[in-house]
Amino acid sequence: MPERTESESRKLLRRLRDVLSVPGEGQDRLDRITHLIADSMGTEVCSIYLFRDPETLELCATEGLKKEAVHQTRMKLGEGLVGRVARFGQPVNTADAPSEKGFRYMPETGEELFSSFLGVPIQRVGEKLGVLVVQSRTARQFNEDEIYALDVVAMVLAEMTELGAFTSDQGGMRALHKQPVMFRATSGQEGAAEGRVWLHEPRVVVTNPVADDPLTEIDRIKAAVGELRVSIDDLLEAQQLDKDQKQVLEAYRMFAHSRGWLRRMEEDIMRGLSAEAAVEKEQSAARARMEQVPDQYLRERLQDLDDLSNRLLRILTGQGKDTGAEMPDNPVLVARNIGPAELLEYGRKLKGVVLEEGSVGSHAAIVARALAIPLVINAQRLVAEALNGDHILVDGDQGIVHLRPEETVARAFRDKIAMQAEAQKRYASLRNLPATTTCGTTISLHMNAGLMADLPSLDGSGADGVGLFRTELQFLIRSKMPQRAELARLYARVMDAAKGKRVAFRTLDIGSDKVLPYMKPPEEPNPAMGWRAVRVGLDKPGVLRMQVQALIRAAAGRPLTIMFPLITEHSEFQAARAHVLRELHREKSLGHPVPDRIEIGAMMETPSLAFAPKSFFELTDFISVGGNDLKQFFFAADRENELVRRRYDTLNLSFLAFLEQIIARCAETGTPLSFCGEDAGRPIEALALAAIGFRSLSMRPASVGPVKALLRRINLAAARAVIDRARQDGAESARPLLMDWLATQETA
Ligand code: PEP
Ligand code: MG
Repeated sequence: MPERTESESRKLLRRLRDVLSVPGEGQDRLDRITHLIADSMGTEVCSIYLFRDPETLELCATEGLKKEAVHQTRMKLGEGLVGRVARFGQPVNTADAPSEKGFRYMPETGEELFSSFLGVPIQRVGEKLGVLVVQSRTARQFNEDEIYALDVVAMVLAEMTELGAFTSDQGGMRALHKQPVMFRATSGQEGAAEGRVWLHEPRVVVTNPVADDPLTEIDRIKAAVGELRVSIDDLLEAQQLDKDQKQVLEAYRMFAHSRGWLRRMEEDIMRGLSAEAAVEKEQSAARARMEQVPDQYLRERLQDLDDLSNRLLRILTGQGKDTGAEMPDNPVLVARNIGPAELLEYGRKLKGVVLEEGSVGSHAAIVARALAIPLVINAQRLVAEALNGDHILVDGDQGIVHLRPEETVARAFRDKIAMQAEAQKRYASLRNLPATTTCGTTISLHMNAGLMADLPSLDGSGADGVGLFRTELQFLIRSKMPQRAELARLYARVMDAAKGKRVAFRTLDIGSDKVLPYMKPPEEPNPAMGWRAVRVGLDKPGVLRMQVQALIRAAAGRPLTIMFPLITEHSEFQAARAHVLRELHREKSLGHPVPDRIEIGAMMETPSLAFAPKSFFELTDFISVGGNDLKQFFFAADRENELVRRRYDTLNLSFLAFLEQIIARCAETGTPLSFCGEDAGRPIEALALAAIGFRSLSMRPASVGPVKALLRRINLAAARAVIDRARQDGAESARPLLMDWLATQETA
């Protein structure tokens, strides 16, 4: 590192800090900074462009370009050289700007006079704030050290921007984290919520980006890295780490011991940054690279580096995760991602959850659904944008989040919540009434559950019982395999809470998207069609038997209902059923009380089972159609894949015809049949299912009211006739005609 540049950049930073330490107006400060940088770098021009909105940059201050252009000249992200710097988060350095690809001539600025251009991004840990540019008349390439100096200045500007140093009513800069922002993301669980942001991991605030004494800062960073290394070693020595956790920690250890990482931070400190700012500079670089790298593995490693930087910052600043801040009354959890156990710990006090990552089938999504909390996933860049306590609206139906909304948006949103609350009241008044259609057919409505926490909804929702209890949730939220006695106690409590209503316990359905932290499945090319559900249970019967024993013990004298997921052929059902009968026999011979009645059923989730021999339909006590899986296999469209999961309509007439075939086969043998996929909880879908012959539907608790309300208003035979007419018309889906018909029913 040349001594000259080192002191140049330190000198520049010190001058910058002096300017910033003088109280002043935001615009005034920006003006003085551009003057100072141009002067220090020996360029005719220095300009600061800041984001007005996520797509638009605005010239906010300049030394050397025409002053009239300030706050007038704007460009889109990616447009011109400035837009290019902003888009890719990388410097652009050229001796001949006008002939550079993408150069955009802006006559109002007078920049045609300047040949050389150096632009660096102003960004703070991945949050893009703007672009800092120097230009000069003489054609020259800026050298490495000049680029470095400008980069460091940009980073300090970013820190100061975050702290509000350039905020001004007179056009300077609009305050960060004050503007309304809307995020279009993905719905993870329906429902609407209004509340205040509660960050799962509160951000670290760095108030001292520039330091006077590099040697003290180097001591600080060395001590902090030392502490970090010890803490990782301690974690690695802790018992009960699974292979993945170990791998992540090994990666942490590798980075923490990397000489390059520490050396780069030390160099940054020598050039004038504080230890904290040096860590953030590395973190920003990692985040910028993360956005560019398509390779999943590399991205995960950069993510590790990012996490590690956070830990280091917390050590340096003493800012732990617990900031002492008080959780607001109506918290909406905002996080990059969250584990199921952590989410469960927050529990029902959360009004909503918004994640930057996640998938519809992730464990967090499963828990949010069980807790009936509106959830939005894939809300990119939300964590960087949101502050604790910010006003936030979560629209789980549309997958939209409004952060710091305008009052008009908030008002419209409140209307929507009020309408939903109004509807809930109406549904509550139906609670004790049956779902009987106007033609006199009663459909029995059940609810899906998976946690003890769901059970209070059984009374409130007006459901006849639990049509699907997903037992895997109890396994997913633990860090080790639950014990039989523990499960037996839990299942007994579920039965107690159901107060004699039927609960259909589905045996462990793991594999595919549901992976137990302590029981890793093998790598599979296509896990949705792989080693999952009852296939795992039959191949490794130890867990299946343990679970069945727990269920039998829990029932002790009460009726018990067990069903197996993803039965694909008759022999699988026979084998699974045999396990239950064997355990029953064993319990009896041990003198333990056994259930007074036992029903053993199969979930129909693969098309093949619809074509099973008659003996299967005779043997099984009941069949429950797992519509989520059945539909994905019928249409060969992955239920987890955003590109295809909404592509095919449940009311597609081929699918309805297939379901009718299942109904007919069950009718032939008198096998009780129900439907328990998500579609059962969507009113139009539920109506169609009832119209083609389903007499039992199981759905999330919040759907029981809306489905019941609709069913009580319609004539099933007439709905059936509409579906038949759609078929005669050669339609692909019954939806359009059914919707039209329903609209006439509304007004009738
Ligand atoms: C289904 O597949 O429809 C079902 C109810 O099971 P899960 O969603 O848990 O796979
Ligand atoms: Mg399923």
